[in-house]
Amino acid sequence: MAVPKRKTTPSKRNMRRSHDSLRVEAFQECSNCGELKRPHNMCPACGHYNGREVVSISS
Ligand SMILES: [Zn+2]
Repeated sequence: MAVPKRKTTPSKRNMRRSHDSLRVEAFQECSNCGELKRPHNMCPACGHYNGREVVSISS
């Protein structure tokens, strides 16, 4: 098994982890119900996309 020759320094470890953080997801207001939704995605609250109902939400 391959074994690291040297201990990773805290600096190198933190440099590697600098890309690990999760980004804040983009959100838009739904034009139909005003609920926050992902852009280019159907609204999960009312089932509308691009001004018309795509999926009927029954609750
Ligand atoms: Zn909506």
